[in-house]
Amino acid sequence: MVSSVYIHIPFCEKICHYCDFTKFFYEEKMADGYLIALENEIKTNIQESKKKMKTIFVGGGTPTALNNRQLMKLVEMIDHYFDVASVEEYSFEANPGDLTEDKIRILKDHGVNRISMGVQVFDDEMLEQLGRLHRVKDVYQNVNDLIKVGIDNVSIDLMYSLPNQTIEHFEKTLDEALQFDLPHYSAYSLQIEPKTIFYQRYKKGTLTKPPEEIEADMYELLRREMKNKGIEQYEISNFAKPGFESKHNLTYWNNDYYYGFGAGSHGYLPGERIINIRPFPTYVEAANETGKPVLHIEKIGKKEQIEEEMFLGLRKSEGVSIPKFEKKYQVKIEEVYGDELAHLEARGWINRNTTFIKLTEEGKPFGNEVFQSFLLEKEI
Ligand code: SF4
Repeated sequence: MVSSVYIHIPFCEKICHYCDFTKFFYEEKMADGYLIALENEIKTNIQESKKKMKTIFVGGGTPTALNNRQLMKLVEMIDHYFDVASVEEYSFEANPGDLTEDKIRILKDHGVNRISMGVQVFDDEMLEQLGRLHRVKDVYQNVNDLIKVGIDNVSIDLMYSLPNQTIEHFEKTLDEALQFDLPHYSAYSLQIEPKTIFYQRYKKGTLTKPPEEIEADMYELLRREMKNKGIEQYEISNFAKPGFESKHNLTYWNNDYYYGFGAGSHGYLPGERIINIRPFPTYVEAANETGKPVLHIEKIGKKEQIEEEMFLGLRKSEGVSIPKFEKKYQVKIEEVYGDELAHLEARGWINRNTTFIKLTEEGKPFGNEVFQSFLLEKEI
């Protein structure tokens, strides 16, 4: 059963120097056209109103780059096709700075109960260097406004291993982020992706990242500081107070099905992964003409599904659930991975009992090798 939906709003006021997501400069007319196309895609695929969902996640880009009128249109559209009142978690991504009090009220009035904010770092100079539009004071303003309006399930995204960043600098960012005492934090190391400004600078030798050992120390610091604050790590890059783990993101790591709507989005439905068209005009044209702006459909057989169950499940601190695996695939995990599990356990890279398989602390640095060993040679 499909119980989650991801909706992509690909507009940003400014393009950050490291970003390779599907995004375009916000222009009012373009965004109006996009919302029409998006509605056509949702209508064609959902074919009913008030469809029940467990989670809705609106990401980007920056959904809050839309103006008030457009944001209202978007939440009303979501309200029409999905039964927002019964949704357990309804999240919007937002960037500090463009999340005005008016926009927060529009979201709150339409059932949004969680905000994920792209804060990245508590340092104006470094924000400038990343090409971000917001400044530290905007984060304070937004968190205050969110709490005032009544959305207190707020998550902050941080970045580390940034050019010129020292451990002390990252520690200062962590301390400042943690003093908000929020229920959820995510932190990702900077990846230099092709087709970004950072990539060009990196190639020219004008941009460097801290060495790998420093990056590893930053990650350890992150985990330690979160633990000291009683914020549990539940995935490689995600930390939450008990009960505030992102239900939507757990859909991905539990290898469950979800719809994906919007330019460049991915959906995962029984037997297939659907990858949408990314370029703006092509997406809009296809969504308007057919309601199915699909670039590619990848068939996912039982073999691929089982492999992904292992890769994704091991990202979570609680690991892969053996009873869930065996119920879902109607096969004993020992029959599929008996030799591999014994080998990984002997190396001390995984822990297992009758209910769970988890990566050990020693196994975490070898995550890729562990994942490789779950690739199956033949169909199940
Ligand atoms: S705001 Fe987010 S999506 Fe937009 S350019 Fe920056 S990182 Fe990319």
